[in-house]
Amino acid sequence: MRAGLFGGTFNPIHNGHLMVAQKVLARFALECLYVIPCRTPPHKQPVYLAPAADRLRMIQLALPDDPRLHLSEIEIQRNGASYTIDTVHAFAAQITPGADLFLIMGMDAFFDIHTWKHSRSLLEAVRPLVVTRRGDTDEKGVGPIEQMDRYIQSRLSTDYRLSAEENVWQTPAGQAIYLLETQPLSVSSTMVRDRIRAGKGLTGLVPPLVDAYIEQKELYR
Ligand code: ATP
Repeated sequence: MRAGLFGGTFNPIHNGHLMVAQKVLARFALECLYVIPCRTPPHKQPVYLAPAADRLRMIQLALPDDPRLHLSEIEIQRNGASYTIDTVHAFAAQITPGADLFLIMGMDAFFDIHTWKHSRSLLEAVRPLVVTRRGDTDEKGVGPIEQMDRYIQSRLSTDYRLSAEENVWQTPAGQAIYLLETQPLSVSSTMVRDRIRAGKGLTGLVPPLVDAYIEQKELYR
């Protein structure tokens, strides 16, 4: 079985997250994809983190009716900072034993992975599936494949080799990192929160039910 783990703060969930979920389900033929909101993000300090119950509810409201999509409360229920390695071990041991695990993330998040807890073991246990986020090139005109290659070789391991199709890096030991280039949807949770504080609308940025929930609960004001 091929299972996707899609972690994040989801503060709140937005259409960029949903686009990523749909693209990877289709392109990587995943049997299931778990959306996993963290309890406390170890790598970022948002100015305002909505209560876990509200972030969970908004994910429930946002997820389309697709039996492959699941919401996992594993990190919300675990005490302390949410480390991906702990989550991955739980999936490997109990939730999806025997499955090939794919760790879904935007390129911005991937470029931090060398700082994550037990990053070496993590890269042995899962295959990162990295989705482009900020367009094709960085401010110096370097494209996503080259940015990925430089990062992987300098921060992770020189054992990785880029495939001829230029969409996967593999090591002789069988580790792999996939790149999925998509038309990026330039939306972030920060943008959503900023717009709410500025009294601007969220049409096209979050699903209508999430928009209504934020309004009703007066979140992010
Ligand atoms: P914030 O603006 O608060 O930092 P965010 O929009 O990055 O939040 P997260 O919940 O932190 O949202 O993101 C979870 C994962 O989804 C991360 O791996 C992130 O890179 C990815 N992601 C978020 N938005 C997009 C997007 N528009 N396109 C591709 N990936 C995205």
